[in-house]
Amino acid sequence: MNNTASVPGATASHPASVSIDGLHKSYGSLDVLKGISLEVGPGEVVCLIGPSGSGKSTLLRCVNLLETPQQGVIRIGDVEVTDPEVDIDAVRRRVGMVFQQFNLFPNMSVLGNLTVAQRKVLGRSEAEARKTAMLNLERVGLAEKAENAPAQLSGGQQQRVAIARALSMDPELMLFDEPTSALDPETVGDVLAIMRDLAKEGMTMLVVTHEMAFARDVADRVVFMDGGVVVEEGPAREVVGAPQHKRTQAFLSRVL
Ligand code: ADP
Ligand code: MG
Repeated sequence: MNNTASVPGATASHPASVSIDGLHKSYGSLDVLKGISLEVGPGEVVCLIGPSGSGKSTLLRCVNLLETPQQGVIRIGDVEVTDPEVDIDAVRRRVGMVFQQFNLFPNMSVLGNLTVAQRKVLGRSEAEARKTAMLNLERVGLAEKAENAPAQLSGGQQQRVAIARALSMDPELMLFDEPTSALDPETVGDVLAIMRDLAKEGMTMLVVTHEMAFARDVADRVVFMDGGVVVEEGPAREVVGAPQHKRTQAFLSRVL
């Protein structure tokens, strides 16, 4: 057993599946998701690609109930999260989310960022929360920054803290929404390397990204969305390397 295997949250002990069926989401008269269906198996990594405005963020936000879809069913494991009676907090406890803009609490230290939800949401003791936090900071290579304020870190370091914070909650599923899009190019690789490790360790991951090399090499499957529908999906190497659909080809020729 290597070191990371003993880190709580480093390996999803029970990676969850995700099943999305016939999802519709609109804002007023704007139809954003027009019947999305998607399966992610336990431990599978699926990258969502597609032009700006195609509904990728909205889809991720529906999965952890930051948005309420009008129609369709989402299951995480065997829990139907779109059931109106569902315990929203219990769903969110199982799902880690990492955003483009990190969303760290600016007035707390790095360590504080990693311990607050463990204590308040999971009811862990301060000592227990600190231990888990430090193990996850070590895992992302930032243990020495525990007492720093987020603003004292580079963008890439802040994003690694955000990932460590999500992992400290022992999630069964990780959602990433363009985690490297706001970063300086030289810090992107460190963040992608952590995501790659996480994928290897068997975490279920749904990743919105424009990093096509990452999608091709790390994802099990790639899903191309455009205009609120899934246009094409398949094994990563096929969709990125030899897209079948004209809209996928046009998109890839712009981003590659
Ligand atoms: P993507 O992440 O693929 O760029 P989004 O899911 O962010 O796409 O947005 C899809 C569409 O939904 C866009 O037209 C966007 O302007 C619109 N949209 C997203 N969130 C809201 C909101 N809260 N209210 C109204 N329109 C929204
Ligand atoms: Mg988006």
